[in-house]
Amino acid sequence: MAWLEDNEETWYDTAQICLEGHMVNSCAESQPESNKNFCSKCGAATILACSKCSAKIKGHAHISGVISTREHKPEKFCDSCGHPYPWSESRLKAALDLAAELDGLTDQDRDDLRKSLPDLLRDVPNTPVAATRFKKIFLKVKGKGGELIWDIIKSVASAEATKIIHGG
Ligand SMILES: [Zn+2]
Ligand SMILES: [Zn+2]
Repeated sequence: MAWLEDNEETWYDTAQICLEGHMVNSCAESQPESNKNFCSKCGAATILACSKCSAKIKGHAHISGVISTREHKPEKFCDSCGHPYPWSESRLKAALDLAAELDGLTDQDRDDLRKSLPDLLRDVPNTPVAATRFKKIFLKVKGKGGELIWDIIKSVASAEATKIIHGG
């Protein structure tokens, strides 16, 4: 019976995510009735595919015989082209825009920040370097500025970067 074989396949549904990174529907293909044009949490438009390469955003993994109820967290990078998704990119941009407004930073600091920020989102060999550099800059900023920058990116920072920046 062919349908039994079909059932054994694992397939990924498409995820519908808002531009700010709220998961709107992790089963956009199998449950299109739950799709929304705009996010009910923040009002941002929603997307189903990478804005850079148009690859669909992977959603719920349908595995035969397994009913998963785990919450889906949006990925930070497109797994087809490696470009940061809009919600990652907007946080990187907001953090840099804020850094441009803060006192106590040199142009070199801002340049270092621009180069280091993307590595805070992933766990790569350069993440500890980037996190240490970020922390140094963060401590240099007067008042609450450093905390504000961290608040923008902490929701997308990798576990390793968070440990270095926030652990002691
Ligand atoms: Zn949203
Ligand atoms: Zn892509």
